[in-house]
Amino acid sequence: MAKFVCSLCGKCCGSLGSYIVIERGMGARNFYCRNGITGELFPAYIQPEYADEFEKRSAEEAAGTSGSPVTACAFLVRNPGAGGYGCAIHPTRPRLCREFRCYHMNIYDTMGGLRGRVIGQNAIRTPDASLETFWNEHIAPLPCSNRPGSRDPDWTRKVLALLASRGYRGDPVE
Ligand code: SF4
Ligand code: SF4
Repeated sequence: MAKFVCSLCGKCCGSLGSYIVIERGMGARNFYCRNGITGELFPAYIQPEYADEFEKRSAEEAAGTSGSPVTACAFLVRNPGAGGYGCAIHPTRPRLCREFRCYHMNIYDTMGGLRGRVIGQNAIRTPDASLETFWNEHIAPLPCSNRPGSRDPDWTRKVLALLASRGYRGDPVE
């Protein structure tokens, strides 16, 4: 099983993040929040390493100069160290964010080259036209109950077997 690797692109938090609602501030770095999708209530703490970026973004939001999409989470900030974006409340982020994976299976060819990734419930992202056609004709129609944080083991078993029949190796991510 492969380990999920986040490239810190920020796309997920930039589009789904408006579901994270700040209900109440308790000082500059402590908040009480709600996940608008699940209703989960959770306390959130700004991490010291993100404090400056969070304050900067909050000031820009207040002045209307942030340039952030309206759908971006209030806790999405530039990553001061590694580049890209980070979650200012990473250790206290809600369960939905902890379980989110923007891909949930890698697909390799016989030489071990990465040929594609399974995204969403049962879609594929690949530059390999023949793999894409095979996926759309034989795998996409399979019954599937994949959900964020919960993968359908029966579907996974069938997909791995179908991929193997074409010389590909599927590797689900943790
Ligand atoms: S989890 Fe989000 S930030 Fe990480 S690579 Fe996927 S879309 Fe980008
Ligand atoms: S709480 Fe963190 S991980 Fe969740 S959407 Fe906001 S920035 Fe992303």
